[in-house]
Amino acid sequence: MASPQAGAAAPVTPTTRFAPSPTGELHLGNARTALFNWLLARGRSGRFLLRIEDTDATRSRTEFATRILDDLRWLGLDWDGDIVVQSARGADYATALAKLEAAGRAYPCYCTPLEIEVSRRSQLAAGRPPRYAGTCRELDAQQRAARLAEGRQPTLRFRVPDRGRVAFTDLVHGDQVFECADIGDFVLRRADGSAAFFFSNVLDDADSGVTVVLRGEDHLSNTPRQLLIAEALGLRAPAYGHLSLITGADGSPLSKRLGAKTLRELRETGYLPIALVNHLYRLGHSGEAEGLQDLDALARSFDTTRLVRSPARFDPAQLESWQKAAVQALTPAAALEWLRPALPAGLDPAAAQGFVDVIRHNLMLPAEVAAWSAVVFGELPPPAPAEAALLAEAGPAFFGAAADALRAHGADWKAVTAAVAAATGRKGPALFKPLRLALTGQLQGPELAPLIVLITPARAIARLERLSSRAP
Ligand code: GLU
Ligand code: ZN
Repeated sequence: MASPQAGAAAPVTPTTRFAPSPTGELHLGNARTALFNWLLARGRSGRFLLRIEDTDATRSRTEFATRILDDLRWLGLDWDGDIVVQSARGADYATALAKLEAAGRAYPCYCTPLEIEVSRRSQLAAGRPPRYAGTCRELDAQQRAARLAEGRQPTLRFRVPDRGRVAFTDLVHGDQVFECADIGDFVLRRADGSAAFFFSNVLDDADSGVTVVLRGEDHLSNTPRQLLIAEALGLRAPAYGHLSLITGADGSPLSKRLGAKTLRELRETGYLPIALVNHLYRLGHSGEAEGLQDLDALARSFDTTRLVRSPARFDPAQLESWQKAAVQALTPAAALEWLRPALPAGLDPAAAQGFVDVIRHNLMLPAEVAAWSAVVFGELPPPAPAEAALLAEAGPAFFGAAADALRAHGADWKAVTAAVAAATGRKGPALFKPLRLALTGQLQGPELAPLIVLITPARAIARLERLSSRAP
């Protein structure tokens, strides 16, 4: 038989798609798959389609589909045309399956799951890779009727050619060759009548005109089967590129902490979509794009020839540094939106914006707002020992002078510090460190000049007086 063959180069104007199974939340891995397909399409004026692969009724849930769409929108990945939902395509699958069966390319298999399992174990025990044994391959009409009469619900299996090979060029992994003799006859339609993944996936790609499929490496070994189905149906198969795994920084599976979080969890923690997108872009895609880029710029530089074969290592520090860059890039209004859920209740809009403007450059995540809310609107926690020592070293007279300076100059921070310097002879860090510590409880943070306006001179004076010899 002729070898199905897929080309090596992504078409000039590609139609790509993302085809999630709604059996759970999006993680970094599937978000990256969606992103890369989107970038490839958008960078070359192509189309990006969306398909929900929910033929497995036991594992699929509508809520997950809804949440996946919501996550994609949040990332900024829009799609073209209508969403294809596989559970609504049963009639089309049935027609195509009947065609394969009529042409002798598929046949009903009456083996029970138990019989299949027993066969699998005995092959494994004999040291052979387990494959369907071909039990039902050559049944005649009478034998089939007898099995039906026993109440067996048949699956439909693809008849893999006995000889020949399936060759294709993977966009990431290069030339691939699979011997047909190594591929067992596989299930196209489950016993409950639903189409199996290999089948619905390949039929839908062809029906939607998908020309390039970027997907996880775990699907590489499915590809020869899918190419055989496409060939049997006379369909044009897409070019496939299988994306390398994402592993932890040490090469282990992505199972711990930040890397294993769902997109939703990262979003709820306050990670910004553009930070995630910039990080994902660099997981398994080598390139020159430097600095935080928007989606359109990433689409222009995305190139399937830059996809790397080796596993992509997820490093939380990288994500955090993209997050910091993304926070810096927010407009004042967007920064306010981002931090709104973390702001103290009851702030009027102007006060909220003023607060956000002052603190935002010192934040990576909204959870860090609480400490600055205490600094500006509440009470400082008692100093830690090292900080208490620093305050003691500056001494009560220093803080008394600072309180006086604030009383004289209000929120005019320049005048205040000049007055404290003149009164105490301190300058540089010896002046600013204890002041900052006394006023904010921290050694680092936003610029003091705007911060002191928010804290208000009155509250600042109270903090200083507590450390001065005049304290009650
Ligand atoms: N539903 C499949 C998955 O989520 C799609 C595989 C593919 O992209 O072809 O793994
Ligand atoms: Zn069988």
